[in-house]
Amino acid sequence: MTSIILENLAHAYRPNPSSPADYALKQATQIWESGGAYALLGPSGCGKTTLLNIISGLVIPSQGRVLFDGKDVTHLPTEQRNIAQVFQFPVIYDTMTVRENLAFPLRNRRVPEPQITARVAEIAALLDLTADLDYKAKGLTADSKQKISLGRGLVRPDVAAILFDEPLTVIDPHLKWELRSKLKEIHRKLDVTMIYVTHDQTEALTFADKVVVMSDGEVVQTGTPEELFERPAHTFVGHFIGSPGMNILPCTVSGTNAIVDGHTIALDAAYTPPAGARIELGIRPDFVHLAPHGTGLPVTIERIDDLGRHRIARVLLDGRKMAVTVPDSLSISGDQASITMLAHRIGIFADGHRLNPAAKEA
Ligand code: ATP
Repeated sequence: MTSIILENLAHAYRPNPSSPADYALKQATQIWESGGAYALLGPSGCGKTTLLNIISGLVIPSQGRVLFDGKDVTHLPTEQRNIAQVFQFPVIYDTMTVRENLAFPLRNRRVPEPQITARVAEIAALLDLTADLDYKAKGLTADSKQKISLGRGLVRPDVAAILFDEPLTVIDPHLKWELRSKLKEIHRKLDVTMIYVTHDQTEALTFADKVVVMSDGEVVQTGTPEELFERPAHTFVGHFIGSPGMNILPCTVSGTNAIVDGHTIALDAAYTPPAGARIELGIRPDFVHLAPHGTGLPVTIERIDDLGRHRIARVLLDGRKMAVTVPDSLSISGDQASITMLAHRIGIFADGHRLNPAAKEA
């Protein structure tokens, strides 16, 4: 178990970067605690793989330091960082048996045979590979091959961290959920720092204790799944996490009121937004409720989606699209309705960043 600190780290692939846009990773300091189960989540191109490759040593950052338990490893090659990696596609030896594949990273480090036997049996059992141990990897399905890859990543008991780069991409959808839960269980048993890169929020939220959300080369929030849902620090997190994501409405704020397109919305506290900033109101669909026409802010219903456990209405508030919850008891005829918002669930954002209420800032 090792803590990882990325100190004033930034990376540009192009030489002589001059503006923030030239950086695949913008300058920041991050601390990854020892033994944590982290997911690195963000859309394609936001810098996840770059960050992972800097931790693993495949990429040397253009500035800043990488510290493993306080030791500077910035310029150490991957082999000397004592980490295990699992990639998107299986990395295994087809001509070896499953057992030999799993044993390989241990044999390579001259671990005594009795320890290898015991550890291979333990990891194979965790991944449901025991029955396959004596088969050649070649004949197995893509799912099983990727399980072997996971096993090879997990087998060394002494690693500083295990890095997963979209490891379930090739896995059959019905097995994905099972393997994700299994990885979480394995994390609890092995107690090793795990960093799991994905662009899939379900994968991130089910695997990780802490999710690190990236956008455009920056970490915009690190938090538990609950924190990201309850209190997104940035409009990007609000919109990216949740299905559908948070409603984001341009507004102005005056004391305890937000004004959206001339409509006044009561807030649960006063805010003093910085002058000149782009101000937005954010509220999750769960906390905006559809109501009969004339009982709140007027909206036009575009459609209602029945999601099984609840219904979500797609509505227009003065032409702005919103997703809102339809209470079970509500029946609406026609396309005219109202919405009501839970004041204590409203966030106010300035240039994308969540503001604290004025009283708390003082
Ligand atoms: P994906 O989910 O698509 O893999 P990502 O979040 O992992 O995306 P990165 O692969 O880290 O993102 O890419 C971040 C940015 O750096 C992108 O603009 C990408 O085009 C650029 N980039 C990545 N690798 C290189 C490289 N070897 N040379 C030049 N630019 C690169």
